[in-house]
Amino acid sequence: MTTCIRCGACCRDGGPALHRQDLGLLTADPGGVRPFLDIADLVTLRAGEPVRDQPAGQGLAVLTTEMVKIRGRAPGDWTCVFYDPEPSTCIRHPWRPWECRLQDCRNPEALRTAYLEDRATRFDIMPAGGRLASLATMHETHCSVPAMARLALAFRRGDQNAESLLLRMLAMDQSARGMLAEVGGGAAEGFVLGRPLAGLLDVFGLAVTRGEDGALHLVKVGLWRYPETATAEQTA
Ligand code: SF4
Repeated sequence: MTTCIRCGACCRDGGPALHRQDLGLLTADPGGVRPFLDIADLVTLRAGEPVRDQPAGQGLAVLTTEMVKIRGRAPGDWTCVFYDPEPSTCIRHPWRPWECRLQDCRNPEALRTAYLEDRATRFDIMPAGGRLASLATMHETHCSVPAMARLALAFRRGDQNAESLLLRMLAMDQSARGMLAEVGGGAAEGFVLGRPLAGLLDVFGLAVTRGEDGALHLVKVGLWRYPETATAEQTA
C-alpha cells in the first residue's frame, strides 16, 4: 500500500471502476459501521460507449465490455462523489474501492496492469431475474450502443430507413427510463440503464430536430467523433 499525498488529482479525474473485489462494499455491514455503496452512487458505462482511456488518459476508446463506476458529483463533472475538496479527502477512505487502493501517482503501473481485470458489471450487482436486471436486459437488447453506432453511420451515409430506426431506439430508451422511474428506481437510472442515448448523439455528429411537418428528424450537426469506423466515416 502507498502513502497518498492527498492532492486529489485522481479523485477529480473520475471515480473508480468497480471490480469483483469491491462487491462486498455493496452489502450492508451488520455492525452498522461501514457505509455501503448504494446503486444510486454508481453509473454504468455500457459496452460500445466512447470513453476517455483511463488511466492512459489519451483520446477516446470504445468500451468492449461495460464498466460500473462511482458516479461524478454532477452531470458533466466526473469528480468522484465521495471526494471532499475541503480538506481534499475521501469521505469513504477506509472503505474505498480496489482501484483507489492501487492508485499511486508515482508508480501508475500497478493500476494500469490491473485496470481491466475482473471488472464488475451491473449483472454482478443486481439480483438475477429481478425487476431491475430484467429492465436492464431488455434495454440492452433494444438500445445497445453498438447498434446505435451502426444506425448513426448508416444514416450519415444516406440510409433514410436508419433514421426511423434510430429515432425509435431513442424513444425506447426514454420509455425504459420512464418505466424505471415508475417503479421507484429513478435515482439509480445511471446505474441500471447507463447514460441516455440522446446524450451520445453528439459523438456521432447528429441531433434530433422537429421538422415543419411536426415530426422528429435526425440532422447532421457536426463531425463523426466516434472512435470506431472513424476512417470509413470520412467518406460519409
Ligand atoms: S472513492 Fe475516495 S479515493 Fe476513490 S476516487 Fe472517490 S474520493 Fe477518491
